[in-house]
Amino acid sequence: MIGGSDKRPAGESESKWETRWHPLREEWIIVAAHRQDRPWIGTTVTSGASGPPSVYEPDCYLCPGNRRVGGAINPEYTNTFVFDNDHPCVGDDAPDPHAEHALYKVLPARGYSRVVCYSPRHDQTLATMSHKQIDVLLATWQAQFRELSALSHISQVLIFENRGAAVGVSNPHPHCQIYATNFVFRRAAQERAVCRKYFEANGRSLLSAVMQLESEAGTRVIWENEHAVVFVPWFARYAYEAYVVPRNSHADITGLSDTERAGLAKALRQLVVRYDNLWRMPFPYVMTLQQAPVDGSDSTGYHFYIEFQPPMRKPHLLKHLAGPEIGGGNFVSDTWPEEKAAELRGVDGRVHYTEEGSSDG
Ligand SMILES: [Zn+2]
Repeated sequence: MIGGSDKRPAGESESKWETRWHPLREEWIIVAAHRQDRPWIGTTVTSGASGPPSVYEPDCYLCPGNRRVGGAINPEYTNTFVFDNDHPCVGDDAPDPHAEHALYKVLPARGYSRVVCYSPRHDQTLATMSHKQIDVLLATWQAQFRELSALSHISQVLIFENRGAAVGVSNPHPHCQIYATNFVFRRAAQERAVCRKYFEANGRSLLSAVMQLESEAGTRVIWENEHAVVFVPWFARYAYEAYVVPRNSHADITGLSDTERAGLAKALRQLVVRYDNLWRMPFPYVMTLQQAPVDGSDSTGYHFYIEFQPPMRKPHLLKHLAGPEIGGGNFVSDTWPEEKAAELRGVDGRVHYTEEGSSDG
């Protein structure tokens, strides 16, 4: 892993950047209006429009040796590469906000926004990386989590990958993002409270109870090994939603031993290969590492897992969030989780469709 650090270009708006409290939803909103003028890199990476991406793209800001928008030049990295986002959502130089009223709580949008390139190869994806390469990535996530969670002003380290134009990303260069924030995201705050309550009543983690139910039922399991279980949860909201859950309970990824991490890498690969093989296309998703916050509060019972929320219902049909989801806050699921799990179980999880005929496992 190679680390880098670059400052935001001078002259950007300093004022429209803060974190505002939503008093009705009781959650923080990051207002990063200073990023409005950032170049939309997605459309500049065309890679031959219809053809597959090449190993190296001269216009890609993530490829080794290329210049980024902030002016920094990427090193000739050989496996993973981490750098501070040139247009951060949260950053150490965010201005001090002005509080309008006691009801309107506000925080400076301080923290770290980082980008993690999975591979120097522009044409690679999580699904075409070997399980050993994925294991190196998991080790990079461990190192990042360790470093960022140790900082006193950081309350949560959110690691996520947005994949595909359907979720707003057009640059296929394999990468994810890290937001290390001075507040706890609502999802993590809620899950932590729920998991702690369950643990106090039952003496085990809620996720391990869910995993056991899924493993015993079997109807929604996609794949499993001795270290992790991959399944569509009984309560899935998205059609192809899936959890990759380590069998042992750890509050975050740093708790995994090397053996557990290697097992998790294999499980993760099984899922992402199946996603792409399902419709023989790059399968869009939002992947999130669900980990306990690091604000010092009690996270007893929190069980780290990796969650995939793919927005597609069919090859050309998006699940649109509308009245019930956006207006009401609850999901209407249009599909039956057992059927979707059977679909994913039924496709090859070992060889990616673009590599049929070659051997990789
Ligand atoms: Zn690239």
